[in-house]
Amino acid sequence: MSRTLVCFHAHPDDEALFTAGTMAKAAAQGHRVVLVVATDGGQGLAATEMGHGAELATRRMAELQASADALGVARVVHLGYADSGLDGPIPPDPPGSQRFCRADVDQAAQRLAQVLRQERADVVTTYDEVGGYGHRDHVRVHQVGALAAELAGTPRVLEATIPRDLIAGAVRWLAKVHRFPPEFDPTAFGRAFVPASAITHTIDVFDHAGAKRAAMAAHVSQATADDGDRTLAAFLRLPKPVFSMVFSREWYVQSRGPVVPPRGRWWPRAPAAAGDIFAGLPAQAPE
Ligand SMILES: [Zn+2]
Repeated sequence: MSRTLVCFHAHPDDEALFTAGTMAKAAAQGHRVVLVVATDGGQGLAATEMGHGAELATRRMAELQASADALGVARVVHLGYADSGLDGPIPPDPPGSQRFCRADVDQAAQRLAQVLRQERADVVTTYDEVGGYGHRDHVRVHQVGALAAELAGTPRVLEATIPRDLIAGAVRWLAKVHRFPPEFDPTAFGRAFVPASAITHTIDVFDHAGAKRAAMAAHVSQATADDGDRTLAAFLRLPKPVFSMVFSREWYVQSRGPVVPPRGRWWPRAPAAAGDIFAGLPAQAPE
């Protein structure tokens, strides 16, 4: 039966990093996939020639559409908020919009709930409660997503995340071959994302790594910088077979929905690791 997946993200490019494989897989299986972004990404880091503020936002929304096309997304929605930026003082609101981290949670949740109801969403993805690596807009996505699902009666909420043990291991390995800047604090990863034991859903997206790569590549501005390297550019430099292995899984913590029995996969060593985001749901999502 055909289901509807709504993926709620903070900025254009977050979908490529966190849920692209799951989206491409669902679309390939004939399900409807809807992508909702809270903000336009106008405060994102990018090389000067990519513009800043409104100009960068326009560019990034076009990049988002290209990414959505690569993933088989049926509809893209912008909730109308402005990017708050990663850190530092929150910039003043641009004309006609509001920084997402300052948004009223109830009002933002009403906007998202309206999409969830229209789409009769079976599953909505949000972020874990620490917002992954702690971006203030990502924390807001967690709060707004949870309330919106409650308002719309969406049967399942899956919080996109990464097992922090996996990142800590990768950083330890990387520290042997790469010299981190002195201000880099590897222990910060001990507080980012969630422990592997908290993961409830591990999705095998190996067969959809090509689509995930195309989604990342669509965010051209986010692979540029005036100096230094960007994470996205580094990912895109990986040889294709390595990319497919590194990005062969996506992880979620279910915060709302029927519990699914564990499938007993070898990774992560979690109490439950269901591999199907639609398993165990009621036959029909609420009207
Ligand atoms: Zn983001």
